Amino acid sequence: MSELTMDKLASFCKRTGIVFQGSEIYGGMGNTWDYGPVGIELKNNIKKLWWKRCVQQSENSFGIDTSILMNPTVWEASGHLASFSDPLMDCKECKTRHRADKLIEEYQRKTNNFDVNPDAMSKEELYDYIVKHNIKCPNCGKLNFTEIRNFNLMFETSRGVSEGKQSKIFLRPETAQGEYINFLNLQRTTRAKIPFGVANIGKAFRNEITPGNFTFRTIEFEQMEHQLFCHEKDAMAKYEFYKDFAMKFFVDLGMDREKLRFKDHDKLAHYAKAACDVQYKFPFGWDEMSGTHLRGTWDLSRHQEFSGKCMEYTDPYTNETFIPTVVEHTIGCDRLALALLCDAYTEEELEGGDTRIVLKLNPNLSAYKVCVLPLQKNLSEKAKEIYKNLTNFFMCSYDEAGSIGKRYRRQDEIGTPYCVTVDFDTLNDGCVTIRDRDTMKQERIKIDEIMNYVAKKLVF
Ligand SMILES: [Zn+2]
Repeated sequence: MSELTMDKLASFCKRTGIVFQGSEIYGGMGNTWDYGPVGIELKNNIKKLWWKRCVQQSENSFGIDTSILMNPTVWEASGHLASFSDPLMDCKECKTRHRADKLIEEYQRKTNNFDVNPDAMSKEELYDYIVKHNIKCPNCGKLNFTEIRNFNLMFETSRGVSEGKQSKIFLRPETAQGEYINFLNLQRTTRAKIPFGVANIGKAFRNEITPGNFTFRTIEFEQMEHQLFCHEKDAMAKYEFYKDFAMKFFVDLGMDREKLRFKDHDKLAHYAKAACDVQYKFPFGWDEMSGTHLRGTWDLSRHQEFSGKCMEYTDPYTNETFIPTVVEHTIGCDRLALALLCDAYTEEELEGGDTRIVLKLNPNLSAYKVCVLPLQKNLSEKAKEIYKNLTNFFMCSYDEAGSIGKRYRRQDEIGTPYCVTVDFDTLNDGCVTIRDRDTMKQERIKIDEIMNYVAKKLVF
């Protein structure tokens, strides 16, 4: 198989209806992407499986869906207004804008020299490093940058109907604050004792200027976050638990363990006690896909301070009163989707010199579980009946255009685990041929066995 690049993956995704460039007919808009008919199913499946692990199969964990727009004081309390920023500088020659830390990372990758950690450097240190190592503008190739300044990543908008009465509000840069500010509601309505958790899936927005490596870095993205509220003395054990929980989730999804690694944060937020990412080995290098963060009592303390509402919890057994510690487990849904696509994309040489592209996704993640194919058009009535019946249980597709070989290839490419072919014998014996995506082996089974045959492979 020739090397998988992000450009190659992007054009594959466009051709197969997985991901399209955002606002494409208007020339696109940087760092935005739209998920097509196949991609949306993949993303929905990721979210469903994660929710199953985090809420359905977790004791004392609950779900919530919180607003994108919140009272601006939330961002004052969280610290985002003061310090959620990137170190930016402009090229004085060509007027393009760059993130200083990313330019250094890129330089390090190219030269394989990881002598410093840009995340842990001050503005001045970043600037000096760039000058000392002669790191040039990637657009025009000159070295003539402005000073580095901090640029807040939150998108602003305003609310208000009459002019002059507008107030500035923000699109949330993370979903987590929605969970923290609902701590009292959650505790009251679930009557849960600590430790208890809450899961939230939703969009977040960051005004990123760095070009994104396809869907890796986007200005609008979906987060899957679980916050555990616990006692400080249990926090480290819970932190370790959620680190393993994340890794196990990725491995259970079928990802190559060799392409996954833990990466402790070199620079912790001032309130954090510990933080560790899971990185995936993307075609452009190792990068972050998910994180586990031991955030201490920072979040609830700050919201207590700014809202004036008491965020304390009283243990019913010991009568101890305390502000709970938070252990956060977070996954970038779009990044996980991208990593899964990189991981599953396979080009195979077949006997006779043919090649095929197969998306070897866990069947739970595949957009369609089954594709029903009539061998010939005059079998379509029976095939459609089978298809309709199966759609009561899972997403299926139906294809009667082109040779059977071509139709198999189309399903291989989008990762459909099973193809069911209806032929002339089907009308007499009530059996179909079911073909496995990965082995290409075919079996003859009864029509009413299809459901169980497929369902058996969907246990997660
Ligand atoms: Zn330039």
